[in-house]
Parts: sequence; structure tokens; C-alpha cells
Amino acid sequence: MTSDSNTNTMVDCEFCKIVAGDAPSSIVYQNDSTLAMMTLRPMTRGHILVIPKKHAASLSEMEYKTGGELFEVGMKISEALRDSEIESEGVNFWLADGEAAGQEVFHVHLHVLPRSETDEIRLIGPRLDLNRSEMDSDAETIKKHINLDE
Ligand code: ZN
Repeated sequence: MTSDSNTNTMVDCEFCKIVAGDAPSSIVYQNDSTLAMMTLRPMTRGHILVIPKKHAASLSEMEYKTGGELFEVGMKISEALRDSEIESEGVNFWLADGEAAGQEVFHVHLHVLPRSETDEIRLIGPRLDLNRSEMDSDAETIKKHINLDE
């Protein structure tokens, strides 16, 4: 993606507008590189999104370092939720990268989702029953493509 198309994407990006202060949001935390805010369509009370301040439509457009920062802020938010009055017996981190994964807003965001034993949220799907040689084969296939340079 060229820098021009990145710029175009940012103009129409609702999360970039929030970062710029041009759209309303309920901000929980921010630092130089990340911002955490209440999501507009929460699945539970306390459902928060952690986003990079620099636009990245997908993980492939984002620096590894920024991914670490998102996770770190997610951990801090989780601690805060557990210490707060908001019901949070457990927390899910959820990040959808790509349309097939359920991504709807194309500016990377990490969901921090407070959970309770009684909520109705279920992340379920079929499980494959693979043998060791199939798992070894998949591990080898993926291993060859891991970027060890950065
Ligand atoms: Zn954006």
C-alpha cells in the first residue's frame, strides 16, 4: 500500500478521527502510540478497544513493536477492569485481522472484553482432530515463513 492510499484511508477512518479528536469517544487511557476507549457496540459493560494511534488497516501494516504496545495496554486495562466495580471475572482479548476473521473496522484494534460466568457470549466452532504428523507438517509449513529479521 502506498503512502497516498494510506492517507486516503485515514481520512475516512473513524478511529483516526477519534485519535485526531475529530470524533467523540470515551477514552480510558492513552500514551504516545496507543489509545484505549469504550467501544460503541459493547458486548458487555467495560468492553474496550485498544488501537494504535498511527493508522494501520491490518497487522501486516503495523510494526511488531506497536503490537507489543497494544498487548501491554490491554494487560493494564485488564488489571484495571478486575480492580474496578465493573463485573469482570475473566477477560478475553480478541483481535480480528481481515474480513474472513470478522474485522469490520479497518484500523487495527484489540478488544478487551470483560467476562462473567453468566454472560451469554460463546466463542465456539468445530475442532479438527489432527494426528502428530499432520501437526508436524503444519508446523514446518508455517516455520518457513516466520520473519526472523526484525
Ligand atoms: Zn485509522
